[in-house]
Amino acid sequence: FVATGTEIPQGHGHEAMRVVSLVDVTRLKEVEGELQTAVRIRDDFLSIASHELHTPLTPLKLQIERLQRREQNATQLQEKLAVVARQVDRLTNLARQLLDVSRITGGRLKLTPEEVDLTAVVRDAADALEAESRQSGSVIAIDAEPKVVGYWDPTRIEQITSNLLSNAIKYGQGKPILVQVTHDNGHARLSVHDNGIGIPPEQQQRIFDRFERAVSVRHYGGFGLGLWIVRQIVEASGGHVTVESQVGQGSTFTVELPR
Ligand code: ADP
Repeated sequence: FVATGTEIPQGHGHEAMRVVSLVDVTRLKEVEGELQTAVRIRDDFLSIASHELHTPLTPLKLQIERLQRREQNATQLQEKLAVVARQVDRLTNLARQLLDVSRITGGRLKLTPEEVDLTAVVRDAADALEAESRQSGSVIAIDAEPKVVGYWDPTRIEQITSNLLSNAIKYGQGKPILVQVTHDNGHARLSVHDNGIGIPPEQQQRIFDRFERAVSVRHYGGFGLGLWIVRQIVEASGGHVTVESQVGQGSTFTVELPR
């Protein structure tokens, strides 16, 4: 409460008095706190975004200059083109995440369900991330039932899978990764297990929020949007996503989707 007082001098028919008003500022303080958080998120985002968008440009420019010199043999050419392709993929992925945020917050996330085999999606996503996992030294093992079919949006299911898998590669410290796909009558379950850095208990729920990243991961690169997008898509599909993790031991992300 904030108190303000006004002195009223003695007048006709009344003693001198003091009028005190008490104003409840609890909500005001809350709004002030929310505003400060919003400003912090915006500032953090601008600094992360400019860094993330800038980082791939240096190797891109370098490789393009080398390619322009033309004194390459076929192997060198392929290596340089692979670097270029990787950095372009990275930028494409960042742009896609930003687009998805505006789509989701604007209520424009449209799901177009069709028959999808989750096992096939997982195998394709693991293949697509082969180069990335090889580079980090981690091997992806898949333990999946032969066909786990449901009605989901294929592009979005692929996105969930590859977001979780690329996190497992990124934060997995080159250790083995296990992806499991199972189902019961009504649900399909995808779990991605890594043996990497893990997540402290107090941060395990926050990492599903927009732009939230564990304090210890600043040097890994990323917007802090992947898991938020995963959760939005999973929940829009009627499912849920959970995490179990121990610092220094690894993490398991589990997505459960109605079929
Ligand atoms: P980004 O990886 O771009 O930061 P995400 O939204 O995908 O964004 O993840 C949010 C945060 O959750 C990460 O910054 C990291 O702190 C934590 N995280 C996600 N996946 C893992 C994982 N497999 N192991 C450890 N930490 C993880």
